[in-house]
Amino acid sequence: MNGETEAAEPKPLAPGLYLVATPIGNLEDITLRALRVLRSADRIACEDTRQTRKLLNHFEIETPVLSLHEHNEAARAAELVAELRTGARIAVVSDAGMPGISDPGSLLVKAAIEAGVAVIPVPGANAALSALIASGLNTEEFLFLGFLAPKASARRTRLEAVVKTREGPLTVVLYEAPHRILETLADVESVYGPECRVVLARELTKIHEEFLRGNVSEVRGLLAERDRMRGEMVLLIEAQPQSKGQVRPATLREQLEELAKSEGLDEKEALKRIARERGVSKSELYRELQLERGRKRQ
Ligand code: SAM
Repeated sequence: MNGETEAAEPKPLAPGLYLVATPIGNLEDITLRALRVLRSADRIACEDTRQTRKLLNHFEIETPVLSLHEHNEAARAAELVAELRTGARIAVVSDAGMPGISDPGSLLVKAAIEAGVAVIPVPGANAALSALIASGLNTEEFLFLGFLAPKASARRTRLEAVVKTREGPLTVVLYEAPHRILETLADVESVYGPECRVVLARELTKIHEEFLRGNVSEVRGLLAERDRMRGEMVLLIEAQPQSKGQVRPATLREQLEELAKSEGLDEKEALKRIARERGVSKSELYRELQLERGRKRQ
């Protein structure tokens, strides 16, 4: 390392907006630069002040904090930009990882840029990239989608759209909550097929860090056997464009008809069965069925 590669900002800290990454589990992942910036800033804008205070207490940092979350970001941005214009040094942190990545921060960044204020990234931990580099999937080209929509139909449409205009496979990186992971894996299976390779990265940098690698139906099966879905998760998918000869996944209506024909199940019984297999609720499936019926009528 030579002088040119060392910290861009001189001591004391130059005025500006500092976007500071914080650990996603392991406190050792805070950088020396992050600590210096957090110590020297005039104020730290935090997603959750209680959460950040724990981190600051651990490192004996006494910089004043204020909240910056999705419900107050627009108003706070105006207030903080006014301070930044007078030469303040403001640090921004989220609860974990990089601010602005599925977390508050980007509105404030835009406002600061418009106001001609310096915006300085202080890199560090990030769940999506940490999962990607250890996944074994293609890291040359990838697409980060953050959290998918809670509605099954919207999730599937998004997954289908991803590969529509592509020739080759693409690594898709998603954040997902434990209570929805089985549903999302079922969607991945129905859009890309049961052989699609996936990696589920759980509890990165923590004691119970785990990578589940395999095709989507295997990983779904492994998870379904567990009593409880726990921990923070990143899902990586080797999304393949649908080849011309590939069979379109059956609609819910077609699956119901198939179960009626092959096993004599009525709609209620068949919905119960499919819900269990997909790891979703019956009411969710019922909504999906209504949507399919609505689309057919149009
Ligand atoms: N800003 C953060 C970042 O840079 O990674 C992401 C914040 S987002 C609100 C939180 C989501 O990130 C979690 O629901 C989970 O999907 C993922 N995540 C955060 N920490 C994680 C960890 N230690 N292991 C796996 N996934 C994690």
